[in-house]
Amino acid sequence: MQRLAEIRHVALDMDGTIYLGNQLLKESRPFLDRMKELGIGCTFLTNNSSKSRTEYVEHLTRIGIPATRESVFTSTNALIELLAPKPPGSLFVVGTTGLCRELSDAGFDVLPSNSDLQPGAVIVGYDPHLDYQTLCKAAWWIKKGLPYFATHPDRTCPTNEEKVLLDCGALCAALKAAVGRKPDVVAGKPEPQMLDALCSRLGITSREVAMVGDRLYTDVLMASRAGAFGILTLTGETRRSHLAASEIQPDLVIENLAELAELLASAKNI
Ligand SMILES: [Mg+2]
Repeated sequence: MQRLAEIRHVALDMDGTIYLGNQLLKESRPFLDRMKELGIGCTFLTNNSSKSRTEYVEHLTRIGIPATRESVFTSTNALIELLAPKPPGSLFVVGTTGLCRELSDAGFDVLPSNSDLQPGAVIVGYDPHLDYQTLCKAAWWIKKGLPYFATHPDRTCPTNEEKVLLDCGALCAALKAAVGRKPDVVAGKPEPQMLDALCSRLGITSREVAMVGDRLYTDVLMASRAGAFGILTLTGETRRSHLAASEIQPDLVIENLAELAELLASAKNI
């Protein structure tokens, strides 16, 4: 396929694409080795803002994927790129210590959750240890009209446990019910800014990027909105039967990453 010959970088969704929970998919490691041989860069890209890049590197290394902080890009990093041109001042954050650390490492002043100082903006992320008082305080500042940002729109987080994990989008929906406001900006997939931010960091165009993921309405939709090559892998959430019913269509459907490695190698004539 001619279009594949233009690809210089592959952005890989994580859960459902390179692993399932803690289980590494067997095609992932050989795929990354093959990309290195082909001179194609790889970034691990996720909406889940509960972990810092350092924590993702630890997780990936633990399951057998060599990674560096530079090879991980989360919705928090996308948000940081959005905030950077006009820093809003101190931040009141509904999120994990990993999220707060990522923001303070980027130079933002993160207020303690028990602070009564008026922040410059409110940030809502995914926090599996959500503190009710922090959420209520965020609602107060949002009601006051302060700038309000969310890391990503997902309403639930995938899990094998017998529970529904309320994600960032569900918290935003609760806040909307309470105070009547949606976030001013949502940073993660399917917003094209996430891929744009990655491209500007890498110094490449979105046309040179293949975005691989297992969800049509986040991974593939973002690729299409950003002008990247959108690849749906069938290793995660989406079945072939879902495709026919969807308005969102990928540029390519693969069974797994082994298939993509072969296609990219033959497109590059190697
Ligand atoms: Mg996924």
